Amino acid sequence: MPDTVLEVIPLGDAQQRVLSAVAPLPEQVVACERAAGLVLSRDVVATENIPPFANTAVDGFAVRASDVANVPTTLRVIGTVAAGDGTEWCVQSGEALRIMTGAPMPDGADAVVMVEDCEQTTSDRVTINKSVSAGNSVRPIADDVRAGDTVFAAGTVLNAAGAGVLSSMNARDVWAHPRARVALLSTGDELVTDGSPLQRGQIRESNLTMLEILVAESNCEVTNLGVVADDEVLLERVLRDAADSHDAIVTSGGVSMGDFDVVKAVLSRIAEMQWMQMAIKPAKPFAFGILSGTSEPGNGRRHVPIFGLPGNPVSSMISYELLARPALRKMMGHKQDLLRPTIHAVVDAPLRRKPDGKTHFMRVFGYFGSDGRLHVRDTGPQGSHQLAATAAANGLAIVPDGTGIDAGGAVEVMLLG
Ligand code: AMP
Ligand code: MG
Repeated sequence: MPDTVLEVIPLGDAQQRVLSAVAPLPEQVVACERAAGLVLSRDVVATENIPPFANTAVDGFAVRASDVANVPTTLRVIGTVAAGDGTEWCVQSGEALRIMTGAPMPDGADAVVMVEDCEQTTSDRVTINKSVSAGNSVRPIADDVRAGDTVFAAGTVLNAAGAGVLSSMNARDVWAHPRARVALLSTGDELVTDGSPLQRGQIRESNLTMLEILVAESNCEVTNLGVVADDEVLLERVLRDAADSHDAIVTSGGVSMGDFDVVKAVLSRIAEMQWMQMAIKPAKPFAFGILSGTSEPGNGRRHVPIFGLPGNPVSSMISYELLARPALRKMMGHKQDLLRPTIHAVVDAPLRRKPDGKTHFMRVFGYFGSDGRLHVRDTGPQGSHQLAATAAANGLAIVPDGTGIDAGGAVEVMLLG
């Protein structure tokens, strides 16, 4: 464990170190209803046409377009067909079939007139009031997806509609990078989680609740291991167990220079760690390392990244966003958009800070003004323990070293969530 003062590095260097040390998780077969948000690891080729047969896009009457060239005209109604009704019909000249959205087009008919443009006078007579051309309101076979087409290329991030497409062409399973299984724990003997009255020196735990949500929002599977006491033996056991059954570990607290920073003490011993000090505020200290778990059959030894977030709640959140989230996304196969998007914004009220050689990530609320540009103002006190002001923020203004930005000035803003 290096006791010397660490070199302070730019955020970008820290991000590079972390990202270069993690790799995409091996692909797995995933059920399509579980695959939304995942990155496909292989092309998906359609094995079925969508739609599988020509059908009507509206409720109405299936006709021959040539029969309705001059309207109004009256046709003989030969029957009714609903969606899912497989009866084979044939529409001859002078005839119409009452047809409901999604029902198969009958032989002989080449167009559908919507019900609003028809008047059914008796059970077997309909007057058509609108002339339509061939193909009107008909959805041809395969006009969404054709069997043999590559519907999704490897690397696609599957969304909800995409999962629906897989389902509609009976691709029940796909190859994808799985969700990272992330173990989450907090340290600190001062932390109370059970609602009991606070004794002197105690505070209520907040980071586990917050991080569990952030990790889940990153599309990972989270195991919340709770607060682990500041006890090296216990912490080592919890970390080793977690490494055996998870793809990554996120810890909160205990990575600073204090006497009871047990995470630091234990990880220095059992993992290959990089202790970093970054030229940012908040979230200066960050610990990243690799803990080797026990062997898995056929897979060799597991190497589990550990993200040691600082305990101050705002720092915890920001270092998760800036370092852990991008790495977890890389592990889940993302190649683009590892970092949150940034956008240039107009500063509404001065964003004040003191020169200290660091880039400040100030919590701001942003809204689109009538000028079509993003405007931001800070959400209140910016201390690294002041989570309430962070709760009101939807962005982080990236304020370079100096005295801040005047009203009307421009600032780059990282958009959160
Ligand atoms: P540490 O990083 O352990 O030195 O903690 C820094 C500060 O954050 C201290 O004031 C801790 O009491 C506080 N803190 C640490 N962990 C948590 C947590 N899980 N929830 C709320 N506050 C925390
Ligand atoms: Mg602590």
